[in-house]
Amino acid sequence: MADMIRCPYCEGEISSTAMKCKHCGEWLQHVDTRQLPPQFSETEIGIARNKSYVWPVVLVVFLYCLYFIPGLIANILFLNDAKRMATKAGQDLPGAGCLTTLLHAAVVFMIVMAVVSIAIFLTVGARYQ
Ligand SMILES: [Zn+2]
Repeated sequence: MADMIRCPYCEGEISSTAMKCKHCGEWLQHVDTRQLPPQFSETEIGIARNKSYVWPVVLVVFLYCLYFIPGLIANILFLNDAKRMATKAGQDLPGAGCLTTLLHAAVVFMIVMAVVSIAIFLTVGARYQ
């Protein structure tokens, strides 16, 4: 049998699965537990809080200078990890904001390069027509 809860409107006893209160007729909003963030153990939270993304930032910048695409991949991977850890830690982690900025800069850089390439292509193409 379903658990009984109290209606938040009239205090009447109703089933926890009820959509509508049978006493006062108010619609009830159920908190979907699947939508709540997963709970982490103290150890996991502790590890996450000690995480720093300063070295990944240095590595990503180095990779960008060396090879753009591996830099971009490393940037996305580290940023995803940083976001996951920040959720666990419940706070921002050092270097994580920098990874976001780097990724935004890389996207802007790619768009600019694409526009420049198209502009050059059109200019050169127009000259030979
Ligand atoms: Zn009620």
